[in-house]
Amino acid sequence: MTHLPPTDLVVAGLGPAGRALAFRAAAAGLSVTAVDVRPQRRWTATYAAWADELPAWLPDVVVAAHIDRPAAWTTGPHVVDRAYRVLDTAGLQDFLALDAVTVVTGRVRDVDVDGVVLGDGRRMPARYVVDARGVPAEPERAQQTAFGLIVDDATAAPALDGHDAWFMDWRRDNGTDPDDVPSFLYAVPVGDGRTILEETCLVGRPALGFGELERRLHIRLAARGVRTTGDEQVERVRFAVEGAPTAPGVIGFGARGGLMHPATGYAVATALSTADAVIDAVRLGEDPQRVLWPVRARSVATLRQMGLRVLLRLDARGAIEFFDAFFALPVEQQRAYLSGRDDATGVAATMWRLFRVLPTGARGTILRSLR
Ligand SMILES: Cc1cc2nc3c(=O)[nH]c(=O)nc-3n(C[C@H](O)[C@H](O)[C@H](O)COP(=O)(O)OP(=O)(O)OC[C@H]3O[C@@H](n4cnc5c(N)ncnc54)[C@H](O)[C@@H]3O)c2cc1C
Repeated sequence: MTHLPPTDLVVAGLGPAGRALAFRAAAAGLSVTAVDVRPQRRWTATYAAWADELPAWLPDVVVAAHIDRPAAWTTGPHVVDRAYRVLDTAGLQDFLALDAVTVVTGRVRDVDVDGVVLGDGRRMPARYVVDARGVPAEPERAQQTAFGLIVDDATAAPALDGHDAWFMDWRRDNGTDPDDVPSFLYAVPVGDGRTILEETCLVGRPALGFGELERRLHIRLAARGVRTTGDEQVERVRFAVEGAPTAPGVIGFGARGGLMHPATGYAVATALSTADAVIDAVRLGEDPQRVLWPVRARSVATLRQMGLRVLLRLDARGAIEFFDAFFALPVEQQRAYLSGRDDATGVAATMWRLFRVLPTGARGTILRSLR
């Protein structure tokens, strides 16, 4: 059996995280091997991020839509004074080119500190080993689910009430009762004159199924006068928001490595913006895991896990109260909670401010979720 020659870095998994890391590492002059079951698979998901989360090296051509002031609806409209970007998924994948990476097609059987072992027993040895295989959406893990339709902007317009986008629209014109499992409308332009209208279950264990989300979306769109034909392009979203363990000495990256925000499901921008720190550590012979997880980042992750536990408990009424308080906060405090990995004080301060202003019932839910 022929094993692959040792390299500086081997990356298991070529989703957005693994691909970004492999691309940046090769560009920095490291020798890189990477493996995926289907490395050539074209990505189709709609990826978005706050503009200030994206790294400076990412060119604007990979942005499909610029939304400078997205809105949220809780008990009324809130305009979020923070730019949001919908990525051109195909453009992003093409930009993260792998010409300088040795790419192997195969199923990874094992990842350990010495390298990656493929299903056929071949080894891919390396000085540094990255596990970026994502996380299976198994029932015991908290998940985000969504069902979306991609329509032309004119068709979507009645759902948007004149706003550029709904980051979250919690109105209950989706046929739900106050004590139902909540879902919201995510409605954003995706470029080329099209908008995605997506009924989203932020987190659930289990999360709402596609049938229920589709039903709610159609009730909501009908209530707003959005006419659909049944021929629209559909997006189905299901992914785990919690990370999975990696072997000792292996660098967990992307969703696998716990870089996903557990209470929102955002991970792409974090992977793009942390790739260079991992690569610098490899070049300097330092421990990338320590660079990725200083005490501050671990504290932030712990606080956000608490946030996930709260969200898992909220019914539709509680979700509206929670996000009403959240979007009333100054945008800097919203940002501290939603983005970044090193401002534990900011995250804690935002959570404390929220707790203080929430109604008594919602506070009780929070306290019960933290027991
Ligand atoms: C429709 C949709 C929309 C989304 N929208 C957003 C968004 O707007 N913003 C955002 O930040 N996130 C979004 N997400 C979440 C998104 O999935 C994650 O942020 C992102 O995919 C995580 O990237 P990753 O590379 O860590 O993992 P993944 O994308 O899961 O990639 C893992 C890779 O590893 C490979 N792999 C797994 N196991 C093996 C194995 N045993 N052997 C070989 N290869 C293997 C897989 O083939 C895959 O290519 C969305 C998800 C979906 C489904």
